[in-house]
Amino acid sequence: MSLEQLVDLSRFYGANPQWVLAGGGNTSVKQNDTLYVKASGTTLADASEETFVRMDRTRLAGVLHKEYPRDADERERQALQDLMDARRPGEERRPSVETLMHELMPFRFVVHTHPPLVNGITCSREGQSAAQRVFGDTVVWVPNINPGLILARAVGDAIEAFRRQHNDAPRIILLQNHGLVAGADTAEEVRSLHKTIFGQVKGHVARMPDFDSIPYDGQRSELLAYQLVKRAQELDSGTPEYRSVLLTNREIARFVRSENAFAPLARAFSPDHIVYAGHRTPFLKLTDDIIAAKQAIGAALGAFLAESGRIPPVVAVQELGVFINGRTQRKMDAAAALFLDAVQVAVHAESFGGAVPLPPEQTEFIMGWEVERFRSQVSAGE
Ligand SMILES: [Zn+2]
Repeated sequence: MSLEQLVDLSRFYGANPQWVLAGGGNTSVKQNDTLYVKASGTTLADASEETFVRMDRTRLAGVLHKEYPRDADERERQALQDLMDARRPGEERRPSVETLMHELMPFRFVVHTHPPLVNGITCSREGQSAAQRVFGDTVVWVPNINPGLILARAVGDAIEAFRRQHNDAPRIILLQNHGLVAGADTAEEVRSLHKTIFGQVKGHVARMPDFDSIPYDGQRSELLAYQLVKRAQELDSGTPEYRSVLLTNREIARFVRSENAFAPLARAFSPDHIVYAGHRTPFLKLTDDIIAAKQAIGAALGAFLAESGRIPPVVAVQELGVFINGRTQRKMDAAAALFLDAVQVAVHAESFGGAVPLPPEQTEFIMGWEVERFRSQVSAGE
């Protein structure tokens, strides 16, 4: 049965960090007039028949064609309400924010992932031209657009334009600074399509990241971790349980050689990176002068807190590595995983003209959005 196959596919891609991390990505299957789509707040790795929301496809088409107010906030508010109203009776969960994109892809199965290998193209200077070089004219490129209704409509227009030109639907969509959407009518085709995509990109990538471990100054890293925790506690007084842990390897060491070398990782590449690893990564040059180090750490943490309302999940220190900061192991694990994902994206993007972060307007939009998410987590007692 289709839903069982969807659960299998979701677990398969959800379990592999080369496709998605944490709560990233979403999947769907169409069955007659019903779309089963991943519920927001669930992970693909833990997919089950209960983690999908049943949506009325006729109503989803209605959302795509309805005329909404011009005001962006009011438009998105109404569109979200209509999306909630498009759930089949009895559905309580919130459908993925990318539900409309799934409805628009004219294939039975749709898998949306954030693979660092493919994001080496979506987050690169060459962008669209690299996508065409790698995939030929089988791919649709969707430029940076704020998530929500406007992105869904842009995807719809791009699919229509492709259809007029090729008399066929596109199986691969690349979302700039975001990820991959791939569609097929059988689960087998979904798997072979993803294999093909990986093979094609790998054929164009000059080198893979080197995550081998390296020796580092343990005493210095403990001292700085202690200072990071101290300053975080001073700034964010309600959180005594802060921890800070050094993360480094051969590739990270290459990036933290200098502020210039770190530039590709200074700002977030994609929405996932913002949510889990921060909208930017402060870079600190620290000497052995402990007073100066205290001040520099305090200033960096304070500036980040003022911008985003939280302590930076990741802080880079020249010639050492990055510190992962957080209050729970789960959040620290996610921050480390997403930072390593960003390192991979930066390395792969070297083969496509170099890395490009999310534009500031979009970063701001997603940060505002994340505050909403954060609030709902707080109210849920997390
Ligand atoms: Zn996504």
